[in-house]
Amino acid sequence: MQETVPLLQVEQVCKSFGTNQVASEVSFSMTKGEIGCLLGPSGCGKTTLLRVIAGFEAIDKGQVQIAGKIVSAPNLSVPPEKRSIGMVFQDYALFPHLTAIQNIAFGIRSKSVRLRKEKVKTMLELVGMADAANKYPHELSGGQQQRVALARALAPEPELLLLDEPFSNLDSLLRDRLTVEVRDILKELGITALMVTHNQHEAFSVADKIGVLFYGTMQQWGNAYDVYHRPASLEVATFVGDGVLVTGRVTGPGQIESGLGLLKGNLSLPCESGCEVDLLVRPEDVLHVENAQVQAKVVHKSFRGPNILYQLELSSGEQCQALVSSHHNHTIGEYIGIFPEVDNLVVFPR
Ligand code: ADP
Ligand code: MG
Repeated sequence: MQETVPLLQVEQVCKSFGTNQVASEVSFSMTKGEIGCLLGPSGCGKTTLLRVIAGFEAIDKGQVQIAGKIVSAPNLSVPPEKRSIGMVFQDYALFPHLTAIQNIAFGIRSKSVRLRKEKVKTMLELVGMADAANKYPHELSGGQQQRVALARALAPEPELLLLDEPFSNLDSLLRDRLTVEVRDILKELGITALMVTHNQHEAFSVADKIGVLFYGTMQQWGNAYDVYHRPASLEVATFVGDGVLVTGRVTGPGQIESGLGLLKGNLSLPCESGCEVDLLVRPEDVLHVENAQVQAKVVHKSFRGPNILYQLELSSGEQCQALVSSHHNHTIGEYIGIFPEVDNLVVFPR
């Protein structure tokens, strides 16, 4: 296989259930060893897309290629077991009557006994479960079961690993730890993986590329920096990270009049003078400066240890948030000076 052939290529895939279009012209691709993450609200079509790639759902239009080979097209569907994929699901799905070792060995039962033994041992060690080899699923915690499920999916050495919300049944501390661990394991093996989540922190910590899905449409496919700082649409802007939209009007080159005052700077403007815009304002881009010209009223505050997240009301009646060092402890109803980091604001035409 040439380096230039993507390991996974999804091209203009459309999929409907009756009149419900769940994937609409979805395109993206992943190179070998890349970790991708499909992010989006519940019901936006993440699981369906994963099932399409796995070969459990036929498609209406477009195609899917794995390692340069077409596996899905409107009149073609290579069965799941012939796609060289591994899968890990949300609900563990281990065989309850098999031990950890037996579960892992299941997917490689066609291999010789010696090979199987070696592989299972390596996999158990890789996921840190060597001590639990002979335990049954019910004797394992949720996190341990997910480790075994991962080992089982990896044992046959798939080209592509698909994970559907693998950590969503775990508590958040364990989830954070496992996310990082799993990323390390996948990187160590150089495996290409596509994971589904509705949790953006998980997506940020695990993925090289994030795909944001809304109503079956891929809004953006890019790295975490771009998705966060250069959102391709209003949907992405408001779904990813904290931030609010404040209205404004372009009044000149690089200049916008808004509830945050007259904003001048290195703003890339989507339209001419006079047009109305929406500004994505993230809390970390609103600085608190005591004597700033713009004063805003504290309407809510949430103490977060190092910072306080202030909910502020602007003179326009709109609201924004400011993430401020918690040494600046203001009270609700008080007016505080704010100064927006103009160059970081993202401007959308209305
Ligand atoms: P997500 O994983 O993002 O929560 P899903 O892919 O599970 O979203 O579902 C997307 C939409 O497709 C939902 O409206 C869901 O009801 C619908 N859907 C999923 N699977 C089926 C199916 N087998 N038959 C009919 N509708 C389905
Ligand atoms: Mg789902």
